[in-house]
Amino acid sequence: MTTSIKLVFASGNVHKLNEISAIIDPRIDLISMRDLGYEDEIDEYGTSLDQNAKIKSDFIFERYGMNCFSDDTGLEINSLKGDPGVYSARYAGDNCSFDDNMNKVLNLLGNDQNRMASFRTVINLWWNGTNHSFEGIVKGNIEFDKKGSNGFGYDPIFTPTGTTKTFAEMSRDEKSEHSHRGRATKKLIDFLYKEINS
Ligand code: IMP
Repeated sequence: MTTSIKLVFASGNVHKLNEISAIIDPRIDLISMRDLGYEDEIDEYGTSLDQNAKIKSDFIFERYGMNCFSDDTGLEINSLKGDPGVYSARYAGDNCSFDDNMNKVLNLLGNDQNRMASFRTVINLWWNGTNHSFEGIVKGNIEFDKKGSNGFGYDPIFTPTGTTKTFAEMSRDEKSEHSHRGRATKKLIDFLYKEINS
């Protein structure tokens, strides 16, 4: 018998929804906020990735009372003391583009030879009234120039350790294999399957 698990993804980001849909088991019925009729952004007023992830899943859980999860991701660059981190989305200012953010990083780093950085994703899950958190990290390097046109955000300037391509030069499946979000999502999926098969 096939079990279908309804789960809301508390994000309006269609790129992320597509990435997660591609790797999540088909027994999970992934529902977007738009499917619930919610089209606004949830205010992310936290000062850490963990806080922001919880703020978003709390919002959906309190409003709709459904099992739900949210994620929050930051690019943490060693030479920039962990910046842009929790401020990754608006690093170059309000209403900035992905290009503006990447240009700011490339300008700040200049010719700095220490290009080490990590992407970190925190997923917060409300599951049958209990709250859980899962983390995924990928280490890598910031390129000197943008390369590739797939993906989103800082993908064209980030090359994961052990590969020769930026995230933006990878297919969606390749990126999911290496990515912070792929790793955190796998932990979420493993948790859910233990839950529904127990
Ligand atoms: P969010 O809080 O998960 O939406 O991520 C904040 C910001 O981090 C996004 O606006 C992107 O700029 C960046 N970001 C998140 N995930 C990725 C990714 O997989 N690749 C590149 N940039 C990302």
